[in-house]
Amino acid sequence: MKIYKIPTELKAFIFDIDSTLYTNQAYAFEQVDCQVRQFAKERGITADEARRMVADYRKKFAAEHNGSKVSLGNTLLAFGVPIEQSVQWRRELLEPADFLGRDEQLIETLKILQSKYKLICVTNNPVLPARKTLEAIGVSEFFPDIVGLDTCLKSKPALEPFQTAVERLGEGIKAENCLAVGDRYDMDIALPLEMGMGGILVSGVEEVYQISKSVL
Ligand SMILES: [Mg+2]
Repeated sequence: MKIYKIPTELKAFIFDIDSTLYTNQAYAFEQVDCQVRQFAKERGITADEARRMVADYRKKFAAEHNGSKVSLGNTLLAFGVPIEQSVQWRRELLEPADFLGRDEQLIETLKILQSKYKLICVTNNPVLPARKTLEAIGVSEFFPDIVGLDTCLKSKPALEPFQTAVERLGEGIKAENCLAVGDRYDMDIALPLEMGMGGILVSGVEEVYQISKSVL
């Protein structure tokens, strides 16, 4: 866990979902790959060719942007797939329950956090599969609201999803009262820090279990 900043007046947590609230390599891989395979199908190329295109684009993007990562949504967009289209693919192709199960340790952790703070998720998945993911791991009730790719049609690290999250957290909560938790610095942490939020980078859900103990 890398703690960048904890707000002095902490009121809310903004959680990333994938590889943050669960750690499951097969599912993390499938989320990207099901869209890449769909892209390949529509382009009439092989899945391996499409995987190579994505990998090459990401490599080139990183080289041109100081090592920064680019989301899959924006990668597909660069290949001419509108965000609305990749949102639809994700809605249709993802079945989190095939990969994920109830996580009692996470449930206990979120119970503790929820007793003192508001909780919201910001994800680059559409709201529907994101909600299914939270249900599969047993934590849906802790997150009345999810800001997804189809909420603003912008993927992290755009400003809009984080701004929307702060607005939805409600009266009396500003960016400086929020703590962003995620597994990718470029997507989940860098912009929240710029907005005045706190930030914690985790390597997976095992480190989220520690948050209630080591941070608060
Ligand atoms: Mg993530």
